[in-house]
Amino acid sequence: MRSKIVVFTDLDGTLLDHNSYSFEDAVPALELTRSLGIPVVICSSKTRAEIEYFRRKLDNREPFISENGGGIFIPKAYFNFDFNYSRETNEYKVVELGTRYETLVEVLNEIRQKTGLHIKGFSDMSVSEIARKCGLSKELAELAKIREYDEPFTVCEDEKASYLVKEEIKRMGFKYTEGGRFFHLTGDNDKGKAVRTLTKLFQRSFPELKTVGIGDSLNDLDMLESVDIPILVKKPDGKYDHRVKLDNLILAGEEGPRGWNRAIINLLQKGKT
Ligand SMILES: [Mg+2]
Repeated sequence: MRSKIVVFTDLDGTLLDHNSYSFEDAVPALELTRSLGIPVVICSSKTRAEIEYFRRKLDNREPFISENGGGIFIPKAYFNFDFNYSRETNEYKVVELGTRYETLVEVLNEIRQKTGLHIKGFSDMSVSEIARKCGLSKELAELAKIREYDEPFTVCEDEKASYLVKEEIKRMGFKYTEGGRFFHLTGDNDKGKAVRTLTKLFQRSFPELKTVGIGDSLNDLDMLESVDIPILVKKPDGKYDHRVKLDNLILAGEEGPRGWNRAIINLLQKGKT
């Protein structure tokens, strides 16, 4: 690794188009990062299995962060020093910051029983239902079901009902965030915590490291707060998520992967870093 810049990126609605899940519009900027040796680290609410699918398509060999900061997956030979990790697989050293999925499903069940609200989690949905709701292929919806640290859910009633659910989640000592399509229940993890943990590892090789973060939704706020250069892309309706507010926030000017392309090229070519 030659670079002193690392880009942390959200997938859904950011590097991937909200509807088509294509990163086509960001290819010029992706090629630029590759030519400059800048690692692009995926930091998504998606599962390990889904991220691996897109890493293969992107030919990306960098570490990645799954399920809203629940797990950090670091290819075994990536860093040439020892560090603390929670478990090992054939390919990765895994730093776990999240709570076991089974516990999260139980918590959501308890809240459903207590409030009587119609809460529907991924664990209640079939593969075809997830495919339909997310506009995913069956293959990808199956990968989305292999969850480890985060339960996406919807509340069928109004906004007041989702507020009640949110309060109950907090009362029980868990966390709540919101992505492009779903609410998310997690343990005491978020994208920011995971980005800061991984940044510390990168800094052991490069103390002068500069970090870039790019996202589109509320669940990216912690990540954007944890980087030197935060970038926000527009939503499919052409607006920015108004809940993402930061003094040094760079607005990408366009939605999803088009915004990704424009902001990253501007940043790297105009030497704004
Ligand atoms: Mg997103």
